[in-house]
Amino acid sequence: MKRIALFPGSFDPFTKGHEDIVLRGLSLFDEIIISIGYNSGKTQRYFAIDLMVDKIKETFKNHPGISVQTYAELTAEFARKNNARFLLRGLRNTTDFEYENSIAQLNRQLNEELESVFLITSPAFASISSSIIREVHKYNGDVSAFIPYKL
Ligand code: ADP
Repeated sequence: MKRIALFPGSFDPFTKGHEDIVLRGLSLFDEIIISIGYNSGKTQRYFAIDLMVDKIKETFKNHPGISVQTYAELTAEFARKNNARFLLRGLRNTTDFEYENSIAQLNRQLNEELESVFLITSPAFASISSSIIREVHKYNGDVSAFIPYKL
Protein backbone atom coordinates (compact mmCIF):
# COMPACT_ATOMS: atom_id res chain seq x y z
CA MET A 1 0.00 0.00 0.00
CA LYS A 2 1.27 3.43 -0.97
CA ARG A 3 2.27 5.72 1.88
CA ILE A 4 0.39 8.93 1.17
CA ALA A 5 0.80 12.02 3.34
CA LEU A 6 -1.02 15.33 3.34
CA PHE A 7 1.03 18.42 4.08
CA PRO A 8 -1.78 20.76 5.13
CA GLY A 9 -1.43 24.48 5.73
CA SER A 10 -2.38 27.97 4.67
CA PHE A 11 0.83 28.50 2.69
CA ASP A 12 0.21 32.24 2.48
CA PRO A 13 2.83 32.14 1.03
CA PHE A 14 4.62 28.78 0.59
CA THR A 15 8.18 29.27 1.90
CA LYS A 16 11.61 27.66 1.71
CA GLY A 17 10.85 26.25 5.17
CA HIS A 18 7.79 24.47 3.75
CA GLU A 19 9.80 23.25 0.74
CA ASP A 20 12.40 21.76 3.07
CA ILE A 21 9.77 19.81 5.02
CA VAL A 22 8.23 18.44 1.79
CA LEU A 23 11.57 17.38 0.28
CA ARG A 24 12.63 15.67 3.51
CA GLY A 25 9.21 14.04 3.71
CA LEU A 26 9.93 12.30 0.42
CA SER A 27 12.23 9.88 2.25
CA LEU A 28 9.26 8.79 4.39
CA PHE A 29 6.32 8.86 1.96
CA ASP A 30 5.60 7.70 -1.61
CA GLU A 31 3.28 10.63 -2.23
CA ILE A 32 2.87 14.02 -0.57
CA ILE A 33 -0.19 16.14 -1.26
CA ILE A 34 0.41 19.77 -0.35
CA SER A 35 -3.08 20.78 0.76
CA ILE A 36 -3.97 24.45 0.94
CA GLY A 37 -6.83 24.86 3.37
CA TYR A 38 -9.26 27.72 3.55
CA ASN A 39 -8.63 28.17 7.25
CA SER A 40 -11.75 29.53 8.95
CA GLY A 41 -9.64 31.64 11.34
CA LYS A 42 -7.75 33.28 8.49
CA THR A 43 -10.44 33.96 5.91
CA GLN A 44 -8.63 36.82 4.20
CA ARG A 45 -5.55 35.62 2.33
CA TYR A 46 -2.71 37.91 1.29
CA PHE A 47 -1.56 35.81 -1.69
CA ALA A 48 -4.31 34.43 -3.94
CA ILE A 49 -4.82 30.71 -3.57
CA ASP A 50 -4.61 30.09 -7.37
CA LEU A 51 -1.31 31.93 -7.55
CA MET A 52 0.06 29.76 -4.73
CA VAL A 53 -1.14 26.55 -6.43
CA ASP A 54 0.73 27.59 -9.61
CA LYS A 55 3.91 28.51 -7.75
CA ILE A 56 3.95 25.27 -5.74
CA LYS A 57 3.39 23.23 -8.94
CA GLU A 58 6.27 25.08 -10.58
CA THR A 59 8.50 24.44 -7.55
CA PHE A 60 7.98 20.68 -7.64
CA LYS A 61 7.56 20.13 -11.38
CA ASN A 62 10.38 17.56 -11.37
CA HIS A 63 8.90 15.56 -8.47
CA PRO A 64 6.06 13.29 -9.63
CA GLY A 65 5.33 12.22 -6.04
CA ILE A 66 4.41 15.76 -4.97
CA SER A 67 1.08 17.35 -5.85
CA VAL A 68 -0.96 20.32 -4.67
CA GLN A 69 -4.67 20.66 -3.94
CA THR A 70 -6.98 23.11 -2.19
CA TYR A 71 -9.68 22.11 0.28
CA ALA A 72 -12.38 23.67 2.41
CA GLU A 73 -13.34 20.97 4.89
CA LEU A 74 -11.89 19.18 7.89
CA THR A 75 -8.31 18.13 7.24
CA ALA A 76 -9.08 14.68 8.69
CA GLU A 77 -11.92 14.26 6.19
CA PHE A 78 -9.84 15.49 3.26
CA ALA A 79 -7.12 13.00 4.23
CA ARG A 80 -9.62 10.14 4.28
CA LYS A 81 -10.90 11.07 0.79
CA ASN A 82 -7.34 11.04 -0.55
CA ASN A 83 -6.39 7.75 1.14
CA ALA A 84 -3.76 9.64 3.11
CA ARG A 85 -2.88 7.95 6.39
CA PHE A 86 -0.34 10.57 7.43
CA LEU A 87 -0.32 14.29 8.11
CA LEU A 88 3.08 15.88 7.66
CA ARG A 89 3.80 19.01 9.70
CA GLY A 90 6.86 21.09 10.51
CA LEU A 91 7.99 22.22 13.95
CA ARG A 92 10.09 25.33 14.52
CA ASN A 93 9.75 25.99 18.22
CA THR A 94 7.65 25.39 21.34
CA THR A 95 4.90 27.70 20.08
CA ASP A 96 4.50 25.47 17.02
CA PHE A 97 4.58 22.43 19.32
CA GLU A 98 1.76 23.69 21.58
CA TYR A 99 -0.43 24.38 18.57
CA GLU A 100 0.45 21.20 16.67
CA ASN A 101 -0.06 19.06 19.74
CA SER A 102 -3.71 20.02 20.12
CA ILE A 103 -4.41 19.88 16.37
CA ALA A 104 -2.87 16.40 16.15
CA GLN A 105 -4.98 15.12 19.08
CA LEU A 106 -8.09 16.51 17.43
CA ASN A 107 -7.30 15.03 14.01
CA ARG A 108 -6.62 11.63 15.55
CA GLN A 109 -9.99 11.79 17.27
CA LEU A 110 -11.74 12.68 14.02
CA ASN A 111 -9.96 9.99 11.99
CA GLU A 112 -8.27 7.31 14.06
CA GLU A 113 -6.32 5.92 11.10
CA LEU A 114 -4.57 9.25 10.68
CA GLU A 115 -1.06 9.57 12.11
CA SER A 116 0.61 12.98 12.38
CA VAL A 117 4.32 13.04 11.59
CA PHE A 118 6.49 16.00 12.59
CA LEU A 119 9.80 17.06 11.14
CA ILE A 120 11.94 19.54 13.03
CA THR A 121 12.86 22.52 10.89
CA SER A 122 16.35 22.74 9.41
CA PRO A 123 18.24 25.52 11.26
CA ALA A 124 18.67 27.52 8.04
CA PHE A 125 14.88 27.88 7.74
CA ALA A 126 13.87 28.13 11.39
CA SER A 127 13.32 31.88 11.25
CA ILE A 128 11.21 31.85 8.09
CA SER A 129 7.50 32.39 8.57
CA SER A 130 4.72 33.21 6.13
CA SER A 131 3.61 36.14 8.29
CA ILE A 132 7.05 37.80 8.19
CA ILE A 133 7.20 37.36 4.41
CA ARG A 134 3.77 39.00 4.05
CA GLU A 135 4.96 41.92 6.13
CA VAL A 136 8.15 42.42 4.11
CA HIS A 137 6.26 42.08 0.83
CA LYS A 138 3.61 44.58 1.89
CA TYR A 139 6.28 47.25 2.28
CA ASN A 140 7.94 46.35 -1.05
CA GLY A 141 10.86 44.50 0.55
CA ASP A 142 12.72 41.73 -1.26
CA VAL A 143 11.35 38.33 -0.22
CA SER A 144 13.21 36.24 -2.81
CA ALA A 145 15.55 34.73 -0.20
CA PHE A 146 12.61 33.16 1.66
CA ILE A 147 10.60 31.58 -1.15
CA PRO A 148 11.62 28.81 -3.61
CA TYR A 149 10.03 30.52 -6.71
CA LYS A 150 9.82 33.96 -8.27
CA LEU A 151 6.77 36.11 -7.53
P1 ADP B 1 -1.04 26.79 9.30
O1 ADP B 1 -1.82 27.97 8.89
O2 ADP B 1 -1.83 25.52 9.32
O3 ADP B 1 -0.18 26.98 10.53
P2 ADP B 1 1.29 27.22 7.62
O4 ADP B 1 1.14 27.40 6.16
O5 ADP B 1 1.68 28.41 8.41
O6 ADP B 1 -0.05 26.54 8.10
O7 ADP B 1 2.34 26.06 7.94
C1 ADP B 1 2.16 24.73 7.53
C2 ADP B 1 3.12 23.83 8.29
O8 ADP B 1 4.48 24.18 8.01
C3 ADP B 1 3.00 23.90 9.81
O9 ADP B 1 3.22 22.61 10.34
C4 ADP B 1 4.11 24.83 10.22
O10 ADP B 1 4.54 24.61 11.55
C5 ADP B 1 5.17 24.42 9.22
N1 ADP B 1 6.17 25.47 8.99
C6 ADP B 1 5.97 26.78 8.74
N2 ADP B 1 7.12 27.43 8.55
C7 ADP B 1 8.11 26.51 8.70
C8 ADP B 1 9.56 26.56 8.66
N3 ADP B 1 10.19 27.69 8.43
N4 ADP B 1 10.22 25.40 8.88
C9 ADP B 1 9.56 24.26 9.13
N5 ADP B 1 8.22 24.14 9.19
C10 ADP B 1 7.50 25.24 8.98
